[in-house]
Amino acid sequence: MAVAQRIVEAWPADARRSYSYSINTTSPESSERAKMIAALVKLKAAALLQQFVRDVVTSTYDGSENAALLTSVRVLGDVDAAAVLSALVGARMPHRPSACADLLLALTANPSPSFRKVAEAAVAGLDAIGMENSQADTFKRWEELADRSKQPLAPEFIANLFSGLKHFQDPTLCEAAAEKLASRPEVFHPTALVVPAIERICAEQDPLPPAVDPAIQHLWTSAAEFLLRRSEVPPQPPSDWRLHAEFSCKCAECRELQAFARDPNESVHRFRIRQERRSHLQNVIDQHRLDMTHVTDRVGSPQTLVCTKDRRTFKARMKEYHDEIAAMCTLVKLAPKSALSKRMEAAVKASTP
Ligand SMILES: [Zn+2]
Repeated sequence: MAVAQRIVEAWPADARRSYSYSINTTSPESSERAKMIAALVKLKAAALLQQFVRDVVTSTYDGSENAALLTSVRVLGDVDAAAVLSALVGARMPHRPSACADLLLALTANPSPSFRKVAEAAVAGLDAIGMENSQADTFKRWEELADRSKQPLAPEFIANLFSGLKHFQDPTLCEAAAEKLASRPEVFHPTALVVPAIERICAEQDPLPPAVDPAIQHLWTSAAEFLLRRSEVPPQPPSDWRLHAEFSCKCAECRELQAFARDPNESVHRFRIRQERRSHLQNVIDQHRLDMTHVTDRVGSPQTLVCTKDRRTFKARMKEYHDEIAAMCTLVKLAPKSALSKRMEAAVKASTP
């Protein structure tokens, strides 16, 4: 036991040192953390376990500790487990939302009312997801490195969150979560995340439990309104080739490029200029993200930079539009009789000429 105590006390300093040059999200330390939790559970060392989760795991948690954390509940007891795990979820929800939702769901397999604190921490933590500098913690550098391999949120995240929340049979918890998700479509993307999650939740649970039902209706309505705002009317293709272009450089080539970009009729332009000037124009086109390709025709000397307008902005918008129409189809199937569904049906019809 004395040895275990020394290990726990020495750990935080050690952990910090090694994270500064570790770029893997599942660094060796994460499996070590799970092993340490398991060892302390075996020793039934409740106080040390609490200290280890609070001082080490809370700041570095990546979800690989979930199974070990679950076994810790029987040593800590429901009340103390709820205290350390709600602090952990509150701190890590912004960085590891999916892992936190998994943990909440796993905890509620045998729900104790104490775990409501964990559910509240998960709901409160939704606000910090996708916010920059959400936490000024000492592990910033490690976070930046870990972020490179961070996975985007998947629909399972929302489905697991509500599966966990429903055990508390409290509509206000579910409603609060739905409101937070619906209010930030830029983070909780309706087509990629929310609509597939609603579909999954409805498929798994029919009928939905009363605590969840109004919350999912809220998500459904806000997604439908978002999609209609964007895509009730099909996007119109540009009527000519005119592009917005305003360059700060006033060299001869830039002026010629600007004139070409703004020309409503010209879609291809050839610049027969030396290499240094061609590179300059390529940089300007890339910097300003103009809707055009630039290819070097190697015939002759100097060679020729061929610029071809390609309407990529409109093409990208059309791809989004089709995704949004597909999401509307999904929403209509789930609640065909609502007034918003009638409008979405009309939008779907308008998408197929
Ligand atoms: Zn220039």
